[in-house]
Amino acid sequence: MSSDTGIIIVGAGECGARAALSLRENGYRQAITLIGDEVHLPYERPPLSKQVLLDEATPQASAVLSDIMLGERAIRHIIGASASDIDIVGKQLVLSDGRALPYDKLLLTTGAAPRRLSNAPTSGRIFYLRTFDDALALRSRLRADMHVAVLGGGFIGLEVAASARSRGAKVTVIESQERILKRGVPEPIAETMTALHRRNGVVVKCGVTVLGLEADEQRVAIFLSEGDMISADVLVVGIGAQPRIELAAQAGIAVDNGIAVNERLETSVTDIYAAGDRCSFPHPLYGGRRLRLEAWRNAQDQGILAAANLTGAARSYQAVPYFWSDQYDHTLQIAGLADEGQMVVRRDLGDGAFILFHLDGERRLVAASGVGPGNKIARDIKLSEMLIAKRVIPPIEALAASVNLKSLLPNAAQEIAVLSIHEQTT
Ligand code: NAP
Repeated sequence: MSSDTGIIIVGAGECGARAALSLRENGYRQAITLIGDEVHLPYERPPLSKQVLLDEATPQASAVLSDIMLGERAIRHIIGASASDIDIVGKQLVLSDGRALPYDKLLLTTGAAPRRLSNAPTSGRIFYLRTFDDALALRSRLRADMHVAVLGGGFIGLEVAASARSRGAKVTVIESQERILKRGVPEPIAETMTALHRRNGVVVKCGVTVLGLEADEQRVAIFLSEGDMISADVLVVGIGAQPRIELAAQAGIAVDNGIAVNERLETSVTDIYAAGDRCSFPHPLYGGRRLRLEAWRNAQDQGILAAANLTGAARSYQAVPYFWSDQYDHTLQIAGLADEGQMVVRRDLGDGAFILFHLDGERRLVAASGVGPGNKIARDIKLSEMLIAKRVIPPIEALAASVNLKSLLPNAAQEIAVLSIHEQTT
């Protein structure tokens, strides 16, 4: 193995950057090359729909890696570059500018791209939100007296709606499903979020599709299936994301709702791994069901695990899925997959906050989802995550009542110590 060939990571987002850092933390001494198609240092995406739109001061990207960190760790960061081909026989990555970079091992972490509206006119008033530059462009347009239409009542749409409303704009959310947050968020939580948005003055329209769009320099006209037309200053489109699989598929790497990897994040091709939003993997907590998770925590954890396995660890990915979304003063959190089973509700958290516990057919806790102001639900969700990981079958009465979830952990004393360490660091 040549010492200057090393590992190439394609995709310099959260996942790729964490992988690069972890490789060095794991003692990997050979070359690491991190390739990104943006011109920024790797940065965090969660602030893009919130602080970047809200803060008074000109925002800076929240960098995961600085130039100093890259230099100290001898990580080569190639910016503004896109990979066009993988020569899996010759073990080379080809960039769109023609450069061919040899690798010993390759990690694909190029994430997902916003789903585009078909037949939409090209207009400086129609926005998608995925990158820091997208967020800056939208921010530069937001004004207190304008009408912002948001297409899609998912995480992007609702976080942007809350930010735009907090900036004083008039906001209309248009969702094609019969309710918002249909993907993976239980109905009672979606109802709470709908009520929260309406209380804050957002018009939420569900079960409505867009029949046509017209745009000029000043406005966007949105023609709806229910017959009316919305005239907005800005349209923000948040209608889902698609995994970026083209590079892998073209190279003959197996694809199944994203790049298909095994539990160790290995693709169907030797020495090529994939991690983050773009890969689907079998999850042992859910009977080996193949999942693809579009979430910050998953991107971070899989980047770290991929780095371990790239350096010989052979560990399986078993982390409990975790999502959160901040809108106004409320936080919505989900640990596990909240799309199945019996639900038990805990309502004694104050200020309208509640948690739903999701049990499978054996009454095992498989998910917990909650919503409330401030940090009302955070501790119970964190404890639920531990109960889910331990495959605990909790007494239903204990979940519904105000029993401390810590007491349900199999080895309570040990877990409490872990929890308090975690709390000190977050
Ligand atoms: P999303 O959460 O999948 O929500 C998109 C919503 O738009 C879905 O309900 C979808 O319904 C609906 N939709 C699709 N086509 C539509 C149309 N033509 N008109 C009206 N509604 C339509 O996706 P997203 O909000 O765009 O977010 C994109 C990515 O960013 C996701 O990976 C998301 O997880 C991530 N993100 C996460 C967070 C967070 O975790 N806090 C925050 C921001 C972004 P269908 O299901 O029928 O398609």
